[in-house]
Amino acid sequence: MAETADIIVVGAGIIGLNTAFQIALRTQARIVVLDKGKGPGEGSTGASSAVCRFKYSYDEMVLLAKHGVGAYQQWADYTKLKDPRAQFHKHGMLWLANASAVQTESEAERLAGLGIRATVLDDQELRTRFPSLNPCLLPPDLETGEPHDCSGGGRHLLELDAGYVDPMDALQDMIDACRKRGISVRFNTAVVDVEIRSNRVVSVSLADGSVIACDALINAAGPWCNRLAEMAGYALNWSLKPTRIQVVHLDRPAEVVGDIPITCDVPGGIYFRTQNRGQQLIVGSILEEDEQEEVADPDNFARYVDDDYARLKLHALQHRIPSLTYRGVQGYSGLYTVNREDVHPVIGESEIERLFVVNGCSGHGFKLAPALGAVLAALVTKAGREDDPLVSPQFLALTRKSITLSEKSVLA
Ligand SMILES: Cc1cc2nc3c(=O)[nH]c(=O)nc-3n(C[C@H](O)[C@H](O)[C@H](O)COP(=O)(O)OP(=O)(O)OC[C@H]3O[C@@H](n4cnc5c(N)ncnc54)[C@H](O)[C@@H]3O)c2cc1C
Repeated sequence: MAETADIIVVGAGIIGLNTAFQIALRTQARIVVLDKGKGPGEGSTGASSAVCRFKYSYDEMVLLAKHGVGAYQQWADYTKLKDPRAQFHKHGMLWLANASAVQTESEAERLAGLGIRATVLDDQELRTRFPSLNPCLLPPDLETGEPHDCSGGGRHLLELDAGYVDPMDALQDMIDACRKRGISVRFNTAVVDVEIRSNRVVSVSLADGSVIACDALINAAGPWCNRLAEMAGYALNWSLKPTRIQVVHLDRPAEVVGDIPITCDVPGGIYFRTQNRGQQLIVGSILEEDEQEEVADPDNFARYVDDDYARLKLHALQHRIPSLTYRGVQGYSGLYTVNREDVHPVIGESEIERLFVVNGCSGHGFKLAPALGAVLAALVTKAGREDDPLVSPQFLALTRKSITLSEKSVLA
């Protein structure tokens, strides 16, 4: 006899695990999470920079980020684990952008109105807090790395409560948290087919030939989401593209002194943060042009970092941290699932009854995962919770119109 479950979640990335966990907080449903990977972290989440910041163009996104980041900040409470692995490394998020003093002040006020603590620094205050950072807002020569006469006088926004988490620790904690609530989380378990009858999901077939019948199915397959959609035979009005994203990492030399915040460096087109107890730096891109390399097969793409990419990003980093010397430079690539229409996730029930999606998280899915999990869990179970995000599910709904944005990149 076929195994049965009430709800199957396909994908044990940060999104699928949070969704399953949130459903278990609301119902007694038998939930099974299936993942084709040999272990955690083989999808986008394993490669994530896991920056947890708040500033987005739309207030709804700020509130979703606030909810998600809040979970990471109170991780033991959220996961209900006594001794979770993941720690929230609070370093703040510094925005170096060519905005006027008035614009920067008004952004800080907007964030404050949404409950986000932010302050505005002048160059001197920036140097006092972060002595290794150059406050110059002129664009560096990325090709040659030739220094220029730096110029100051900007006003810089600092989100005080931003930070980052080790994504592998977060995944392992979520697996423990799910299992503790009776959810079955299985690896080495690829879904290879989905049976639909009378426009309703009935079961999934696994690579070993077994079948699990279910009442509801959730597509949390990250960059593989379109493959699952093909198996089930539904189409979305959204184009969700697995996209190669490169990250450079290097040792942090002793000359780079003091605290280094997570930094969004608009003139240089990069973001960076520390990792490994501050001993390393990782550098990625904030540019739309670096989010264009679509990947036909998410199981097969170049995992290394291109030399050219590393050169440009290191030149930008050198401009921002003049005392930097390059040591131990390496890199890797992972996949965003970029929603080409508006780089925001899509959430909701597909045209097939009881088949739900939470896909297209682009470069935002790590910080948003606890919030997106709660939004979808409320839709699936029709049971809200007091601590659910204060954002209408319509904001990211499958049925929405594209969100209008000036920047279709991770900055959104
Ligand atoms: C380089 C990089 C940097 C990033 N930086 C940040 C950041 O700083 N902040 C932030 O908020 N976000 C960031 N992101 C984005 C964020 O990491 C992703 O949005 C998020 O991890 C997506 O999670 P997911 O669970 O949807 O996908 P995944 O982690 O890819 O999980 C999907 C899972 O589905 C499984 N699966 C797929 N198909 C099947 C199948 N048929 N059967 C069974 N299992 C299946 C896969 O094995 C996989 O484990 C970054 C991403 C990358 C790549």
